[in-house]
Amino acid sequence: MSEQRSKADHDRWQGFSTKAVHAGFDPDPQTGVVNVPIYASSTFAQDGVGGLRGGFEYARTGNPTRSALEASLAAIESGTYGRAFSSGMAATDCMLRAALRPGDHLVIPNDAYGGTFRLIDKVFTQWGIEYSVAPIADPAAVREAMRPSTKLIWVETPTNPLLNVGDIAAIAELAHAGGAKLVVDNTFASPYLQQPLTLGADVVLHSTTKYLGGHSDVVGGALVTNDEELDVAFAFLQNGAGAVPGPFDAYLTMRGIKTLALRMERHSDNAEAVAEFLSGHSAVSHVIYPGLAEHPGHAVAAKQMRRFGGMVSVRLAGGIEAARDLCSRTEVFTLAESLGGVESLIEHPAAMTHASTEGSELEVPADLVRLSVGIEDAADLVGDLEQALA
Ligand SMILES: *Cc1c(COP(=O)(O)O)cnc(C)c1O
Repeated sequence: MSEQRSKADHDRWQGFSTKAVHAGFDPDPQTGVVNVPIYASSTFAQDGVGGLRGGFEYARTGNPTRSALEASLAAIESGTYGRAFSSGMAATDCMLRAALRPGDHLVIPNDAYGGTFRLIDKVFTQWGIEYSVAPIADPAAVREAMRPSTKLIWVETPTNPLLNVGDIAAIAELAHAGGAKLVVDNTFASPYLQQPLTLGADVVLHSTTKYLGGHSDVVGGALVTNDEELDVAFAFLQNGAGAVPGPFDAYLTMRGIKTLALRMERHSDNAEAVAEFLSGHSAVSHVIYPGLAEHPGHAVAAKQMRRFGGMVSVRLAGGIEAARDLCSRTEVFTLAESLGGVESLIEHPAAMTHASTEGSELEVPADLVRLSVGIEDAADLVGDLEQALA
């Protein structure tokens, strides 16, 4: 077996793509295999009691394929420690349990991912956790929502599905001044476009189901940090609660990461073309894309992101009926939940991904349509939207 890479693997290379391709696994000295094998083993032989050969004893605690992915995740987020989970929600659950105790308070975006909101509102409140919502684009409002008991500020940027942009450096500063940690859900941007740890965040969270996996064929999550104490808590919960990915899932995610930079460039190119087309269309009342100069978060996005990503949301002049019609008429864009894959997807958040926010402070507009712009040809994507809006 190839030697496990150190957690500081990323120090060996400068460029993002070099890390994305190489971090986590060196060609095996015995066989020369270039890709990390799928180690389909739940247990590992010991040389005498406690004599572990590669540091592995049981695959809930650790598996070599997962370890390779975890080293890769740490490297591409410019962090020290990476932990992989069976889903983005499993990573979210681990983060909340590692950082919060009964009586603690956290601040979440007023348009947080629906599943994040649901887990906090329906589960964690039962265990004595309190939360407030705040518009993440307004650091002063985030500060106002903080209490003496606030232990965590939860930021998504850009947010899902309204693509609001939070100033990570500014929020990190006010979180730390108030004695709280900052976690950034970096799912929409991906580490190629934005690196929250370098901007002062304490933890980066991913649904690796989305851009990191990149091919809509695997569900997973990740936490990356430089904070050793937090990482020890993550590892304890990974083993203690067991929401870990299997080796095949870890392999697929690692395979996706290798092409992340190329895909994000193309997603961004195509999303720019789609946003520009939609901006001029009479059936559309608002185009929401951080790359547009009129987007309220454009300047902050330009400061902290390499490009503006592949997600575009629109509000339809014809209201909810027009929104539902658009979703059912596209042919290249597939009507489906999720995002971040090579194929373009379209969805109606109020009825699909964000149905759980109905009636809450996080309710999304009914005339909103969310596009995950894929890596197909821009002309075909624009043509598809043109016919669907006609
Ligand atoms: C999808 C998503 C999640 C949840 O991840 P799963 O892998 O579906 O469990 C969390 N945050 C954001 C921003 C997401 O898009």
